[in-house]
Amino acid sequence: MTSDNLITEGLTGLEEVAPDILSLRTLFVNVVFIGETGSRNWVLVDTGMARFTDYIVQVATERFQGPPSAIILTHGHFDHVGTVIELEQFWGVPVYAHPLEIPYLTGLKDYPPADPSVGGGLMSRLSFAYPNEAINLDDRIFSLPKDHSVPGLSGWEWVHTPGHTPGHVSLFREADRLLIAGDAIITVKQESLWSVLLQDKQLHGPPSYFTTDWQAAHQSVQHIRHLEPKLAITGHGHALSGDMLSESLKRLDLDFEESTVPDHGKYVD
Ligand SMILES: [Zn+2]
Ligand SMILES: [Zn+2]
Repeated sequence: MTSDNLITEGLTGLEEVAPDILSLRTLFVNVVFIGETGSRNWVLVDTGMARFTDYIVQVATERFQGPPSAIILTHGHFDHVGTVIELEQFWGVPVYAHPLEIPYLTGLKDYPPADPSVGGGLMSRLSFAYPNEAINLDDRIFSLPKDHSVPGLSGWEWVHTPGHTPGHVSLFREADRLLIAGDAIITVKQESLWSVLLQDKQLHGPPSYFTTDWQAAHQSVQHIRHLEPKLAITGHGHALSGDMLSESLKRLDLDFEESTVPDHGKYVD
């Protein structure tokens, strides 16, 4: 499939979230370009669905002067690492993730399979077909620095936001309180096909069919709430900002047990 086809078929979307932040949707998952237009210094966060390699390279080539300094992965689920092996080879740049996520990125550990019984939507029921096997970046994947700095970026820190996966991270820039949340919080009800197609804008907890530790997931929502982000770009759905973001974070935290943790399921008890 060519990039032009992808665009015309509505499988992608570009959102300029801040002057140096571009969010690109690959089918139903976002990748984020951090860096000003024309810059040589930039970083890619997550790599989206497979088959979008050419499109990501095209957007990068139009916007920047050269390859990124690094690729940062919020976690290793198939829909966030779909193009990482090809991009790493194409650009020859280091890839970083949390140490607890690295076994899933070096072929040592597979994620537990998705639980199609939670969430009650078609995307959930189809999730038995989502790949859960580890990919293998071998010696091209590195641990994020212990001091919480983000390689290739100044003014950013990585924040451990586990629950959805053990080594899930979000990225935070204090200067404008901008958060790249990965799947710790998302703004579509990812379990529902309708919600995904319409890309409705409502804050939700992590996609439930893949979330294995709900207590940690709740603590991560609290952690994010305490960061008081002004703008959040999430792994799925549109960016959310301002009062709508703070109010929704508060509600998500307070109602987490009722609104978000599935009543029953493989990973609930
Ligand atoms: Zn995920
Ligand atoms: Zn995801």
